Amino acid sequence: MKVPQVDPDLCTGCGACADVCPEVFEMSDDDIAVVKNPKGAGEDKIQDAIDGCPVEAISWSE
Ligand code: SF4
Repeated sequence: MKVPQVDPDLCTGCGACADVCPEVFEMSDDDIAVVKNPKGAGEDKIQDAIDGCPVEAISWSE
């Protein structure tokens, strides 16, 4: 199963992914998005978060 991953070097901490898909993404204390539950939402909703990231910091990992 593919799971989303966040590149912390690219993430600007905008929070959009956690707004779109809070079941999967949350903001760390460092204001970097982290994947808290890769199976917390369906692929379509996760893809919406990926598509909404302004710096393309989220990708699928097999
Ligand atoms: S949408 Fe992208 S840049 Fe914004 S917090 Fe999420 S991973 Fe980081």
